[in-house]
Amino acid sequence: MDILNTNIQYLKGVGPKKSYRLRRLNIETIKDLIYFIPRDYEDRASINTLREGIKNEKLTLEVEIIGSGTLSRPRRNLSILKIPFRESSGFGNLVWFNQDYLKDKFKVGERYIVNGKFNKIGMEYQIMNPVFEKPGRSQKIGRIIPIYPLTEGITNTDMLKLVNNVLKEYLKFIPEVLPQYLISKHNLMNVHEALINIHFPNSMEIMKRARVRLAYEELLTLQLGLLNIKNKTINNSDGINFPYKEDVYKFIEDLPFKLTKAQKKVLKEIFDDMESNKQMNRLVQGDVGSGKTIVGIIAIYKAVISGYQAAMMAPTEILATQHYEYIIKILEKYNIRCELLVGSLSKKRKEEILEDLKEGKIDVLVGTHALIQDNVEFLRLGLAITDEQHRFGVKQRAALNHKGLNPDVIVMTATPIPRTLALILYGDLDISIIDELPPGRKEIETYAVDKNMKERIYNFIEKQVKQGRQAYIVCPLIEESESIDINSAEELYFYLSEDRFSDFKVGLLHGKMSPKEKDEIMEKFKNNEINILVSTTVIEVGVNVPNANIMVVFNAERFGLAQLHQLRGRVGRGEYQSYCILINESMNDISRERMRILQSSSDGFVISEKDLELRGPGEFFGTRQHGLPELKVANLFTDMNILKIAQSDAQEIIKADPELKNHELKLLRAKIEEMFDKIKDDLDY
Ligand code: ADP
Ligand code: MG
Repeated sequence: MDILNTNIQYLKGVGPKKSYRLRRLNIETIKDLIYFIPRDYEDRASINTLREGIKNEKLTLEVEIIGSGTLSRPRRNLSILKIPFRESSGFGNLVWFNQDYLKDKFKVGERYIVNGKFNKIGMEYQIMNPVFEKPGRSQKIGRIIPIYPLTEGITNTDMLKLVNNVLKEYLKFIPEVLPQYLISKHNLMNVHEALINIHFPNSMEIMKRARVRLAYEELLTLQLGLLNIKNKTINNSDGINFPYKEDVYKFIEDLPFKLTKAQKKVLKEIFDDMESNKQMNRLVQGDVGSGKTIVGIIAIYKAVISGYQAAMMAPTEILATQHYEYIIKILEKYNIRCELLVGSLSKKRKEEILEDLKEGKIDVLVGTHALIQDNVEFLRLGLAITDEQHRFGVKQRAALNHKGLNPDVIVMTATPIPRTLALILYGDLDISIIDELPPGRKEIETYAVDKNMKERIYNFIEKQVKQGRQAYIVCPLIEESESIDINSAEELYFYLSEDRFSDFKVGLLHGKMSPKEKDEIMEKFKNNEINILVSTTVIEVGVNVPNANIMVVFNAERFGLAQLHQLRGRVGRGEYQSYCILINESMNDISRERMRILQSSSDGFVISEKDLELRGPGEFFGTRQHGLPELKVANLFTDMNILKIAQSDAQEIIKADPELKNHELKLLRAKIEEMFDKIKDDLDY
């Protein structure tokens, strides 16, 4: 077995308890630990003087203790310890709160290096809650300190020691996977130097060089992996040549509404692809409610009247069913046979559908991932559409692709991704954007409020429900390890159904329910047999209940902006004025700013760019969402330049050596496999 994959439990000083805690940080093996990248650094390398102090900024001083500590208790539960010191430019006090035990630790005449926030009260200089150590030790101070993501029971000092020990013993087992010519070409650090300096840099410049090296390696691996999948799956040979059909335009005329300009533009792009020899691989991005589905249906119509079958795939049964109902409503009168294939069908019914499909008696098949299973055979699949792409991975797309003779493929997504990024992430797809909403939509009124408004919100819901409307109430998912101030869906459901809204019908929907239970609840909500639906984010994607006009989100600060925007898109789908109420339970400025963005913008692209800026892509691209492997070092947003270089290198490599057979690439190939192997479980639902 690979020594780097040894469980950390067997490390000196770790043991079962600590390894359990580390697992919460996704650290299971020695390698995970080596690649556990600091989230920040603190420069404690240079010694400052008191005179340089800026209020509330950290300062490193070399001090001499010149008196014994004094303790005061201005309030119950608060004690203040002050220890007087002298340093080269003046006098001051080290100050601690509620740390009485430190009182006798410091002896007059001793010297320490201390690091803490600077404060000035009247004439008194203070260093607040400093970390300290004897001069010359340079463990906690006197150098650049990595700041790690932490979890309960693991301090930064714990992490520091662990990483330090692991590097000493195991770094030598990490192989250099980059071929030498790339290292020289970009003047990169070697891997060992980079790993040491990402954790324990001697200067911020060196740290940056280390980061570049590691990010490059990671992005190159990612790009190679994506290109490789594309090569294997997307056949570059010719696709179907759909004929021009006048009927399609009649069909569009007969729709109950006029297409928007943006929809027409995207349709033209789709038709051009369909009517050419080339196989279409097109990503259609469009905000919630921009009318992507109808565009897909028009393309389906064109495929079917040209004599082909079409498939539409959605990530959940609820959505597949919804699409199916919408599709029948529109296609039925054209004598087109549509069927729905989902897991909950009886075995007999499934077999019938599969049989008819194989014989070409079914024109359009709608379903979940069930559609890409091996036993599903089409006679003449010409067009495959997947909706809400962020739930599907690259591989699923590929599998669907293989169901026909190079069918045209449309991928629809409501997750707005800035264009440059999309080009790289979905490098194998052409991109169309529906950047306009159908006319006459009422703007959803959005309010960000704090939690003491809850009672008023309930009153408001009550009033609306009495008028026949419905409401969603969304709570964040809670992990076991988290504290209790967070509202859990179950708890809230209990309170609302038993107490506050006992006169109404309240429903509960969460991710742990079976698909069947979820569908039942959604069905009831659709039929207004449930007035108020308490839910985790399972309702996030695509659900359409026009009568629901209120979306309340508890602990809104815990959601990504793009996600909140998606949630908001669940309302405003009917004729009623709709409301989105975000309960922000955090006092922090960034979270206020984020709420303000949502209040002031309804443009998904603007919101997603802001989200990237404020939260950083780590969270934004909770990459699972996109079916992409997790990145440990690289940042898809800020490392755009490295990403471009990696992409061009990857293209060159693949062009010269499509199977990566070259001996120099052997280790890199293993790394690609490892990176993409991790997401396999996500991909093959
Ligand atoms: P998306 O999938 O992009 O979220 P949908 O395709 O579900 O959006 O469309 C949302 C609603 O808007 C549907 O009820 C659809 O019938 C309607 N719609 C789509 N295009 C138009 C249009 N051009 N004019 C008016 N209504 C439209
Ligand atoms: Mg949709």
